[in-house]
Amino acid sequence: MSQDVIVGIDLGTTNSEVAVIRDGHPHVISDENGPILPSVVGLDAQGKLLVGRAARNQSILAPDRTVRSIKRRMGQDITVSLGGEKYTPQEISAMILRSLKQRAEQSLGHPVRKAVITVPAFFNDGQRQATREAGELAGLEVVRIINEPTAAVLTYDSHPPEMERLLVYDLGGGTFDVSVAQVEAGVVEILSSHGDTQLGGDDFDQLLFDHVCDRFQKDQGVDLRTIPVAKSRLLHAVEEAKKQLSSEAVVSITLEFIAEKQGVPLNLVQEIGRDDYEQLIEPLLVKTLHCLDAALTDAKLSAYEISKVLLVGGATRTPLIHRMLTERLGRPVLAEIEPDLAVAMGAAVQGALIAGVDVGPVLVDITPHTLGIATLSRQFGDEIPDVFSPIIERNTPLPATRTQIYTTAVDNQTAAEIEIFQGEDEDTNYNTRVGQFLIEGLAEVPAPNQILVKFDLDLNGILRVTATERHTGLAKQVVIDSMIERFRTQERAGAVERLDRFFESEADEAATEFHDSFDVEALGAEPAQAASVDPAWQNALDAAHALIARAENAERNASAEDAKELRALVTDLRQAISERSEETIRTISAEVEDLVFYLQDQ
Ligand code: AMP
Repeated sequence: MSQDVIVGIDLGTTNSEVAVIRDGHPHVISDENGPILPSVVGLDAQGKLLVGRAARNQSILAPDRTVRSIKRRMGQDITVSLGGEKYTPQEISAMILRSLKQRAEQSLGHPVRKAVITVPAFFNDGQRQATREAGELAGLEVVRIINEPTAAVLTYDSHPPEMERLLVYDLGGGTFDVSVAQVEAGVVEILSSHGDTQLGGDDFDQLLFDHVCDRFQKDQGVDLRTIPVAKSRLLHAVEEAKKQLSSEAVVSITLEFIAEKQGVPLNLVQEIGRDDYEQLIEPLLVKTLHCLDAALTDAKLSAYEISKVLLVGGATRTPLIHRMLTERLGRPVLAEIEPDLAVAMGAAVQGALIAGVDVGPVLVDITPHTLGIATLSRQFGDEIPDVFSPIIERNTPLPATRTQIYTTAVDNQTAAEIEIFQGEDEDTNYNTRVGQFLIEGLAEVPAPNQILVKFDLDLNGILRVTATERHTGLAKQVVIDSMIERFRTQERAGAVERLDRFFESEADEAATEFHDSFDVEALGAEPAQAASVDPAWQNALDAAHALIARAENAERNASAEDAKELRALVTDLRQAISERSEETIRTISAEVEDLVFYLQDQ
């Protein structure tokens, strides 16, 4: 049985993933670097093949030994050169597929021979055929090629009680694709598809890059675009800054010794606010809305006839996209599945359907409530107290980090009370108060003095709230670790109901289990495929990866010495992960946790 497992593969332009059905639900397989494999192939100085992160890391220094974005060349009668040899696009793609096959085999403990592979809806026959060939070269029988938007829809629900029309908005690194799909009784039909093959997150990076370069040139008189190493360092830094701006209101980019002027080294230190960034990218997002209109016109539908909006692709984490789509379509967008994992998960669902295996609805751990703080609002000269200002919206997947800027209400205000609430009402009196703290010692300056309030909600539902005076860096933090209990007990019925609504779960048995544990892994019927994956191990792995992400975040603001210590611990943790040593992972995780906590408290 397990030998017949059909894995689902998202062979992306920027990143690729492989997923299987575990305990009745799709699950993306991680290695020690997490679930995402960058779609980059390279050769190291000794000619050894590198696939994924290692290849991407060397691409700045060794572009001649690295191939990126091969998906854009699939189906073309060309070759690309890698370390002096010529390879067809199919061969390069096969290296990525082979790497994913190995990852799946290591996780499952048996050979994998069959796969469903996804392609963009706009791929023509030649491109699809080339994808199939790549699979075969990698030793995989490609049992089906499916469209990415179809896969995304399958991840949600392919058996809605009534016919549904969904809009899939897919914005990746290099391409944009919007599709209208109709789903009924397990059949997903794509009614229309539009897109722009030259629009993606990479273009946002380019805009931010030019913005930073222009500012640097104005201040320092040096154009970084003309210095190759500075250019690649900055491109990398702006991509990181862009990602942070999806959850932070302000980010800073610091690059030491980025250039030289008359023998004097120059450092780059720039702060970028989310507002400025949003102004830069808005024209590109307006273009995506034109495509969306075209897709609706082709499907002969109006916006109100769309029942759900699904977000796919890493770049859809950009909050402005959520706002623009919600406004254009008049309904909230569904973002509760990791946008860069949805397609692989859908491919795994398709694989299971072909293999005749039952799959339940897909669930992820989400915040069942909006979390935010109480604020004082001024409207037409009147002061309105107790206004709820949401920071993490309900249905956001965990872990989640969001920051908002607030301001003091009066001049010379030296303290501010941060009152934390959960709930959906605009008036905090109708929401549940979950904590409170005071930030004191603020600078005696005229209002408005900016205070950044950061919410970190981890996989266990533990909420860390940090308030930082932007002007001085003065910070205060509180940890509220009863959140998960609240979700488990007080609010679980509501959470189940909401999730049932999303996924139209018919499995009463599964719902009962969900009541008992609030553990999505516990959902589902008998282990169907891939029973050999140990869920406890996978949980430990997921927790360790979440911790590594937090540590990498904390490292940015740490002193050189603390950053070094943290990096060493993270290296040990990665080592322990690759050795699959649960005991060591636990011990090192505790140390990393302590240090991260200490750094956040600084
Ligand atoms: P994909 O092709 O779906 O893997 O998407 C890759 C693109 O998503 C790249 O341009 C990434 O920089 C971008 N991306 C990934 N994470 C985020 C994020 N948190 N916010 C904004 N863009 C992101």
